[in-house]
Amino acid sequence: MSARVLDGRPLAAAIREGVASRAAAFAERTGRRPQLVAVLVGDDPANLAYARAKGRAAERLGLAFACLALPAEAGTDRVVSEIRRLNADDAVDGILVELPLPPGCDAPAIQATIDPARDVDGVTPDSLGRLVAGRPGPRPATPLAVMALLEAEAVALAGARATVVGRSTVVGKPLALLLLAAHATVTIAHSRTRDLARVTRDADVLVSAAGVPGLITAAHVRPGSVVIDVGTSTVGSGDEERLVGDVDFAAVAPLAGAITPVPGGVAPVTTATALRTTLELAEWRAGV
Ligand code: NAP
Repeated sequence: MSARVLDGRPLAAAIREGVASRAAAFAERTGRRPQLVAVLVGDDPANLAYARAKGRAAERLGLAFACLALPAEAGTDRVVSEIRRLNADDAVDGILVELPLPPGCDAPAIQATIDPARDVDGVTPDSLGRLVAGRPGPRPATPLAVMALLEAEAVALAGARATVVGRSTVVGKPLALLLLAAHATVTIAHSRTRDLARVTRDADVLVSAAGVPGLITAAHVRPGSVVIDVGTSTVGSGDEERLVGDVDFAAVAPLAGAITPVPGGVAPVTTATALRTTLELAEWRAGV
């Protein structure tokens, strides 16, 4: 058996197409483009690259994009006051804070300052509460992307055993809640989980979001299961530098039923999804 490879790029293209046409309709109706602002604190090159990539993708779809760059030593108070200023700007529809933040920045306090109506990443207490309660609200992009990939593949989740490796606020926990809302029986594993392979081998759907290359081997996977690799880590240097996931693809693909590659699996869908959320927040605030 060899797994179906779940290519995220066609799905991302379909989402982008929908966003572009709705963004054009929004601009025609309101006289302005939906705007996303990324708050970038410090000069982490990966964060800078992510923000730039989002900006290019946004502009291509007819969304406006701005990057608010602050020095690493800005500190919590300055970042909070800049976010309050963005909250009060009627032309700003979506705000996201690039993580990780430098030392001295209180990430939860900063995220909690974002106006829930502009919370693209779904990380404010209001958005997270809505997720827990099953009420409408912005959801974090990566968990939504994973759900979209599963839906595109018509993976039956009701009654399925789903295991999520990772419990971050932006990926693992919200994804577990979305899977639960889809009636899966959900297990969350993390760095303190004993005998990870025993836990993951139970899963019909296994999602790894740990950021540990090679964490998921053939011994961790139930034959025929669906394996979604959220992890993205850079390994090697110079010409040898490459992006890898958590899953040992070569070892797992022959026994899984379906598997996402890295790169080209979850990440392109995540970017497209974040832009769709920005558009939806703009439409919602404008009453479109
Ligand atoms: P994070 O905040 O660092 O969380 C990582 C989680 O993995 C933690 O809950 C941690 O457990 C757990 N973990 C770490 N080592 C483990 C191990 N050996 N065994 C089991 N669990 C382990 O990271 P994140 O923001 O959730 O992101 C996770 C990964 O996804 C990263 O590689 C990130 O780059 C990637 N990512 C990809 C996309 C995409 O679109 N593809 C989007 C966002 C993030 P503890 O809680 O016990 O520490």
